[in-house]
Amino acid sequence: MRRKSDLDKYLRQQLDLGYEEFYLPLESRPSLEKSVAALAIDDFANSQSLEQLERSIENCRRCPLWETRTRFVFGEGSPHAEILFVGEAPGREEDIQGRPFVGRAGKMLDKMLVDLGLSRGEVYIANILKSRPPENRDPLPDEVEACEPYLHAQIKLIRPKVICALGRIAAQTLLKTKMGLGEMRGRWFDYQGAKFMVTYHPAAILRTMSYLEPTMADLRKLLKELRK
Ligand code: URA
Repeated sequence: MRRKSDLDKYLRQQLDLGYEEFYLPLESRPSLEKSVAALAIDDFANSQSLEQLERSIENCRRCPLWETRTRFVFGEGSPHAEILFVGEAPGREEDIQGRPFVGRAGKMLDKMLVDLGLSRGEVYIANILKSRPPENRDPLPDEVEACEPYLHAQIKLIRPKVICALGRIAAQTLLKTKMGLGEMRGRWFDYQGAKFMVTYHPAAILRTMSYLEPTMADLRKLLKELRK
C-alpha cells in the first residue's frame, strides 16, 4: 500500500496538472476525499487571486461549523478595495445566500455606504468566521483560530489601506483584546499591516438608532484618513 506522504505527493502533482476528479474504488473514497480537501486547504495561503482562495477553502472542515452551515460565506466586493469591513460571522440570511451582510444589518450597512458616497462594489465586506455559528452565538476561540488565517489571506490579496471592524466582538477578536467598544472607538490600531478602526455593528444601530450618527462620524473619519 502507498504511504500517505506518497499519496499526498501524487495528489498534489495531479492537482498541479489540473486534474480535479479522481476515480476510485468506493471503499477508498472517504479517506481520499478528505486528503484532497486537506491538500487544497493547505495551499490556500499561496492563492494568487480571491477566486483561487475561495475555491481552495469553500469546502473547509477545519471546525465543526461545516456541519451546520448552509453556505460558506467567503466575502465580496472589489479585489482592489481600499476599505475592508469585517463583521464577526454570517447570520441566517447570509448563510442562506452565501453572501456577507445581506440581512437587515446588511441593508443598514448599504444605506450608510450610500450616504458616504460609496457602493458595496468599491469596498470589500467579509467576516472573521466564514460559516454561521448556530443561533448566531459569538464565535468560539477554536473557530476563530481555524478561520482567521483565511481573513489574513484575503487581506494579503486585497491589501486594503483601512480595515473597519463592525462591532465590539469583531474588534476584540481580531485585536485579541478585552477592551470595550468605548475604549477602542476613535483610535487607530494596526492589523496585518493595515490601519484598523472599529465602529458600531449595523445590527446595534438597528436596535439603538442614536448610534447611527456616531457611526457615520467614525466612517467619515475613516474616509478622511484614506484621502490624507
Ligand atoms: N453580522 C455579521 O457580523 N456579519 C454578517 O455577515 C451579517 C451580520
